[in-house]
Amino acid sequence: MGAMSMTHGADRRGLALASAQLSSFDRQFTAQAQVQRPDRYRLLDALPLDTPRIARGSGVSYVAASFGSEAVSQDMGSFDRLLAFDIRTGLVCVEAGMAIGDLQRFLLPRGWYLPIAPGHPRATIGGCIAADVHGKNPARDGTFRALVEELQLHVPGHGLLSLDAHHDADLFAATCGGLGLTGTITRATLRLRRPPGAIALRRVPVANLAEAARVLREAANAQVLYGWHDGQSARFGSGVIHLGLADEEATPPALDTSPARDLPASIAPLPFTVWNARAIALANSWLRRRWCAPGMSVAPLASALFPLNDARWYFAGFGSAGLVELQWLVPHPRFEAFAAALGECVAREQPRIALVSSKLFDGHAHGLAFDGKGIALALHLPSPAAPRQRAFCEQFTQIALAHEGRPNLIKDATLDADSVRRAIADFEVRRLALARYNADGRFRSELTRRLAL
Ligand SMILES: Cc1cc2nc3c(=O)[nH]c(=O)nc-3n(C[C@H](O)[C@H](O)[C@H](O)COP(=O)(O)OP(=O)(O)OC[C@H]3O[C@@H](n4cnc5c(N)ncnc54)[C@H](O)[C@@H]3O)c2cc1C
Repeated sequence: MGAMSMTHGADRRGLALASAQLSSFDRQFTAQAQVQRPDRYRLLDALPLDTPRIARGSGVSYVAASFGSEAVSQDMGSFDRLLAFDIRTGLVCVEAGMAIGDLQRFLLPRGWYLPIAPGHPRATIGGCIAADVHGKNPARDGTFRALVEELQLHVPGHGLLSLDAHHDADLFAATCGGLGLTGTITRATLRLRRPPGAIALRRVPVANLAEAARVLREAANAQVLYGWHDGQSARFGSGVIHLGLADEEATPPALDTSPARDLPASIAPLPFTVWNARAIALANSWLRRRWCAPGMSVAPLASALFPLNDARWYFAGFGSAGLVELQWLVPHPRFEAFAAALGECVAREQPRIALVSSKLFDGHAHGLAFDGKGIALALHLPSPAAPRQRAFCEQFTQIALAHEGRPNLIKDATLDADSVRRAIADFEVRRLALARYNADGRFRSELTRRLAL
């Protein structure tokens, strides 16, 4: 996230705007954007009604979903308070700008936690709802909407609305996964779960992606379930499934509860790209030695929830050219053929792939959110503008489309309006369902521009 470079004085309504250079986490889009950082509820109404806007959490989406050159970003960072917590029933009410890492830090010592958390601890609760994020095992826990009991939404001209599955159910459903296009979430009541004492993490080596899919399917009930795979052509897809079961007996090592350990929202890139073919080969063989033998370790829940906290240098190493994350969910009956076609494409094109990971999903496709039944595969590619890398990304998309994949809109900056319309069969119905609440196109971002949402 760029620094605020210019601040204007507040007008009579208390409206203060700053101009800031904002970049998406993947660095594929940068814009000089207007930012409002309201610090009290009445300031949500300070923007003139016809001003295009979009809510912003921590801005840790891979793509530019919370800003754009044509809209004011409403940064919800000042709305980060815990409003109510019922330790008996496991319900918590927080403001939407609270970071999920901070909330977990508060809850865990009190015997509760959010079972669904994305890999970045700075993602806000508003961002988790609006992107309907998934956690460490979506097949077992579902997506973030499953935790939302109630939310409060600010809609310009209508004020603050309280929504749940019974009150304004359509608007509630559209807001969960709605990418900020129905209004600004100001607070949410979330249902918590009891945390296990620790996680016993088993490593199951797999020879290829087809075997990985079988192991994932058999472990659908695990607390933590995801695969790491080698992205190099000679060993493409081989790797390990991390399978975490609750270990109530284990005495976990002390929790590192310091927010200073959290992955920063904005990571300064190194001046060059570390992830050339040689560095990727070295990193892969190091990870292979570390993980790809059967084994077991006990991890405190906090580190199992946010394993990327140690990945600061990994992300900095993509340099100023950044990376792209391609993430598609492929239905079970098509996954083996998809994996075979992808393996052939990798062998032919020899792209540089820094990371491949897999997850199991067992939900329902809803709205434009990333959910359904199948295996999700995510790839990180450095220097996506380089011709060979770009050609591979295009072919990857075609292969995923040919195997009925569903793309993750909040992650993949290579997607265009045509591909998402081909991928999501009822895209137009979904788009119109959102447009009902955004008839005048008031809510918009670079993502909505790119995908013609
Ligand atoms: C390293 C890393 C790991 C990640 N791991 C995962 C993962 O495991 N699973 C997963 O699903 N995602 C993952 N993500 C993606 C990330 O969790 C989501 O993109 C999340 O939305 C980011 O939250 P944020 O608060 O930064 O939202 P922003 O990036 O600021 O905004 C995201 C979207 O939410 C909307 N929004 C934000 N706040 C509000 C609000 N208060 N009201 C209405 N709309 C709002 C914005 O308009 C925008 O459309 C990861 C991202 C990174 C960088």
